[in-house]
Amino acid sequence: MAATEVAQSRRIVTEIPGPKSRAIQERRRSAVAQGVGSVLPVYVERAGGGIVEDVDGNALIDFGSGIAVTNVGNADPRVVERAAEQLGRFTHTCFMVNPYEAYVEVCEALNRITPGDHEKRSILLNSGAEAVENAVKIARSATGRQAVVVFDHAYHGRTNLTMGLTAKNMPYKQGFGPFAGEIHRMPMAYPYRWPTGPDNCGPEAAAMVIEQITKQIGAQNVAAVVIEPIQGEGGFIEPAPGFLPAVVEFCRANGIVFVADEVQTGFARTGDMFASEHEGVVPDLITTAKGIAGGLPLAAVTGRAELMDAVHGGGLGGTYGGNPAACAAALAALSAIEADGLVERARAIGELMLGRLRELAAKYEVIGDVRGRGAMIAIELVQDADRTPATEALAKVLSFCHSRGLVLLSAGTYGNVIRMLPPLVIGDELLHEGLDILEEAFAQL
Ligand SMILES: *Cc1c(COP(=O)(O)O)cnc(C)c1O
Repeated sequence: MAATEVAQSRRIVTEIPGPKSRAIQERRRSAVAQGVGSVLPVYVERAGGGIVEDVDGNALIDFGSGIAVTNVGNADPRVVERAAEQLGRFTHTCFMVNPYEAYVEVCEALNRITPGDHEKRSILLNSGAEAVENAVKIARSATGRQAVVVFDHAYHGRTNLTMGLTAKNMPYKQGFGPFAGEIHRMPMAYPYRWPTGPDNCGPEAAAMVIEQITKQIGAQNVAAVVIEPIQGEGGFIEPAPGFLPAVVEFCRANGIVFVADEVQTGFARTGDMFASEHEGVVPDLITTAKGIAGGLPLAAVTGRAELMDAVHGGGLGGTYGGNPAACAAALAALSAIEADGLVERARAIGELMLGRLRELAAKYEVIGDVRGRGAMIAIELVQDADRTPATEALAKVLSFCHSRGLVLLSAGTYGNVIRMLPPLVIGDELLHEGLDILEEAFAQL
């Protein structure tokens, strides 16, 4: 059954999870390492548009997109067709052994659509973490420097280097050390929690970062500053206005490679093709993954030709990086984003969601903040005027929404943020229905 045939309406026919899902979950316990969790253990049968159908015949509203991956929708027929055509010709040769055109085409597309009209090069990899690791390798190789600057609330992946770059200990880092050296963490311009208020946040945070880099590391020792232009896992924290441009300017003045980790924010998600564009930021290197290939595993680093080409021949690569089926899927997904006007659609989703969530926030004090851009929207839950994180309320809201068939994720250093990442092809009706469920959850608190 093609994805387009997945009926775009919620349907709940069993408890959530249903009996078939529970039976598979039981088998899972003795087969799958328990360190890997699942937000909502309903086992999937098919998915398309804004709907995920499970093995019990329930149809759930998707506010997760598999963590910001299926921006163009799940199993988009154009993605499926192009990847299937490629699979039928060859599945793998390894680009480092016998190359193929689709890899080159994806790099050409990335060089074209990423911010800045300078000369660019790209490399393809398998995961977001691998992209971030490679960006650091390239920045170190190109600058001859070692230090890497990251931020509070950052999330960059689960490999050893990217765990080190990631801020939150539990669950990402606990027990997994030692971590790589020369990683330096700086304050984040987090408007909602900035001590002197959101209006001062951008300039004050930038000044603190610049001072700490200068005094504690020495700008001349810094290879790269790595930052998410809107933090994802950290709680959809949009840096206060002016912060990113000030950090970029400091990097430019000091020969530091500015790396935008757009693994979660990329590919129309935030209502721009890339979130950096919002403040006119042009990264030296940009890491992408998640939304790049309509659900197939692919990642990339794209950046200034002189940096990318500074690495010696054979210094970059990997067996599967830029797998041909993933490349074919990416080409279809990237043209779908443009053909379907998904940048504009993401903006419309953002307006709809922010409007309704602000109404909710006015009604329920537990909603301390509503934020985000495009189809990357979050609410932060607090217990009181001191903004104490409301983690219990979050658990109740999530579990209510899950039981009603709304796929919803949490986030945040304090575990008190509900994040919404619907596929960009979701219809307004499903969006409203999902928000109705969320509203009911708050009414029930
Ligand atoms: C998800 C994510 C990563 C890691 O990507 P994986 O594909 O899971 O390795 C890195 N950076 C950001 C901003 C992410 O959201």
